Amino acid sequence: MTAPLTLANLIDGRQQEPRAGRYLDVFEPAIGAVFARCPDSDAADVDAAVAAAQRAAPDWAATPAEQRAQLLNRLADLVERDLDDLARLESRDSGKPVQLARSLDIPRAVANLRFFAAAITQWPGEAHPMDGRAINYTLRQPLGVVACISPWNLPLYLFTWKIAPALAAGNAVVAKPSEVTPCTAARLGELAIEAGFPSGVLNIVHGNGPQVGQALVEHAQVKAISFTGSTKTGAAIAAAAAPKFKKLSLEMGGKNPAIVFADADLSDANLDTIVRSGFANQGEICLCGSRLLVERSIYDDFKECYLERVRALRVGDPNAAASDLGALVSKAHFDKVTACIERARTDGGHVLCGGDAVRVDGRCADGWFVAPTVIEGLPNDSVTNQEEIFGPVVTLIPFDGEDEAIAIANGTGYGLAASLWTSNLDRAHRVAAKLEFGIAWINCWLLRDLRTPFGGVKNSGVGREGGVEALRFFTEPKNICIRLS
Ligand code: NAD
Repeated sequence: MTAPLTLANLIDGRQQEPRAGRYLDVFEPAIGAVFARCPDSDAADVDAAVAAAQRAAPDWAATPAEQRAQLLNRLADLVERDLDDLARLESRDSGKPVQLARSLDIPRAVANLRFFAAAITQWPGEAHPMDGRAINYTLRQPLGVVACISPWNLPLYLFTWKIAPALAAGNAVVAKPSEVTPCTAARLGELAIEAGFPSGVLNIVHGNGPQVGQALVEHAQVKAISFTGSTKTGAAIAAAAAPKFKKLSLEMGGKNPAIVFADADLSDANLDTIVRSGFANQGEICLCGSRLLVERSIYDDFKECYLERVRALRVGDPNAAASDLGALVSKAHFDKVTACIERARTDGGHVLCGGDAVRVDGRCADGWFVAPTVIEGLPNDSVTNQEEIFGPVVTLIPFDGEDEAIAIANGTGYGLAASLWTSNLDRAHRVAAKLEFGIAWINCWLLRDLRTPFGGVKNSGVGREGGVEALRFFTEPKNICIRLS
């Protein structure tokens, strides 16, 4: 038995133990056992990290954008160099199939770093001549010290999605990865030292949300908070930040619809994407479509094809190339997801496939696996169709016509991402415009261009990330007006 991997905070350019010497257990979900320990930091560690960031902020802000971009690109090179190791670590930490970490999570972390390195050097300025009387221009200045708080489902992917624009724009960062999956962020901290980032520009403090996250949010020197996580935590952060008037970007939960019209092109490739949109990463992606709305005239035929594909998904050891789904991230989350399935049954839902935990033989016998589950027969206002489950659970809901599809789709408190499937272009645009979601994918899912705005409405989010939106968030605009005589 090997000793657990012990992670460190990154403060002031050095790996540091938590001041109080306490650690949290980090589990490998596929085997249900501890494999690492991460600092159980507290407000004293946060104070040290913020102080280091404050010292570093002025020089970093004054560093030419090209040099900041060079460092981000160097970091991207190192992540790319270690892609395989990072993918294995991500899979071990989160339970996701290693193939997914290799093809999606880590390449996307590289893309995030490179994208914002390029974006900051290409960001056009804004100037407004005033009828020859004056020229106005907008100076965009970094905020100083900013906090980036990220969740467990796409650990390095979302961590880099936040720190890359924050650093590119010239801020010093104190980041807090999820305590459930802290390993790849800790490794990124080591790579940032290797890349040559100046001390204090990037700090990483591990630990519990209510302890470290809260201390960060409340810290007087932290000017902005970029958060991705649950709606409940987003509300707590918004409440704590409000009295101090901090800038906030909140990316939160979803209850996303996938809407299949009778005229949809249900080719094999499209059906595969519809299945993937529900079950990729065990359904642990905020963008997964967990409510599958199907036009009644094709409902029975569609259901048959869909179920055949879902039943063919393989749940197993995340290390195995054949596994489509790995383990759920934690015992607590496994218990939540299985309880949601029981609740659906109690409320009259008919489980068409899955519905149970899966026992994987061999080294994964104690892992937290759940079968891809499809449920029908529940109204849209049921708890199952209203609350985020964030696991491999999809409900089927029939509808009649466009108006009903839109009403059902919009009929939740969330508004993150919808997908719609139709071969009628007019309908696609008409429906997309009426959907109360931050993203509407037409005949696709999870197709992302990093230049586009990303985020949700209603209980799914406040503000937008992506492209210029992220750079705007991490800078303060100042109007400079020059009178012309
Ligand atoms: P979570 O809210 O429990 O935790 C997210 C982060 O916030 C963690 O780092 C956690 O330690 C920290 N945190 C917890 N309490 C805090 C507090 N009081 N103050 C400050 N920080 C605190 O979320 P999770 O369970 O890690 O992630 C799953 C959720 O994230 C789901 O709801 C999912 O939909 C959402 N999510 C949203 C997006 C998006 O882009 N909208 C993307 C991924 C995940």
